[in-house]
Amino acid sequence: MNEPKVLIDTDSLYRRIKELANEINNHFGTEETLNVICVLKGAAMFCTELSKNLKMPLKFEYITLSSYGNSTSSSGKVKSLNMNLPDFKGENVLIVEDIIDTGLTLSFLIDYIHENCSPKDTKLAVMFDKKIKREYNLSPDFSAFEVDNKFIVGFGLDYQGFYRNLDYIGYFDN
Ligand code: 5GP
Repeated sequence: MNEPKVLIDTDSLYRRIKELANEINNHFGTEETLNVICVLKGAAMFCTELSKNLKMPLKFEYITLSSYGNSTSSSGKVKSLNMNLPDFKGENVLIVEDIIDTGLTLSFLIDYIHENCSPKDTKLAVMFDKKIKREYNLSPDFSAFEVDNKFIVGFGLDYQGFYRNLDYIGYFDN
């Protein structure tokens, strides 16, 4: 298997995620419950590292969404495998996603939550913002890094199911 080149090393990654958690702590405060929605599979590692540094009472939901399949570009359709979200009964919600690209996946999820789950304040945290490809009118409230048109892997992000376990963010030269 090809070894990806390093885009963001482990230390920089963990340092920035901690900073991002502090931005989220400052926004929500430490008192009110926050419902963290982790979008699997890609956000698993980011969500774990981020939430270790969050200071408010947390509850977790895990959902599986996919718009890429095995390719390196969006299929244009969101596949939802287990959308069993509860009614949040006026509590705060933080959606945690690996990367926002066209914005299709997250637009779909945010609309769903607003229509079905009665959140109070819904915010969006992403590890990467790939602004260049945005097609939906959506920007993350909290974003650890921006990335250009590279296809990146590691720390949860895959290529054909592999590389999610890397403890850094890598990319391949085409
Ligand atoms: P969107 O719906 O915003 O177009 O796509 C978001 C999803 O596409 C992400 O959750 C992620 O699964 C996938 N994606 C977008 N860019 C990349 C990338 O550079 N690397 C990887 N591994 N996945 C990506």
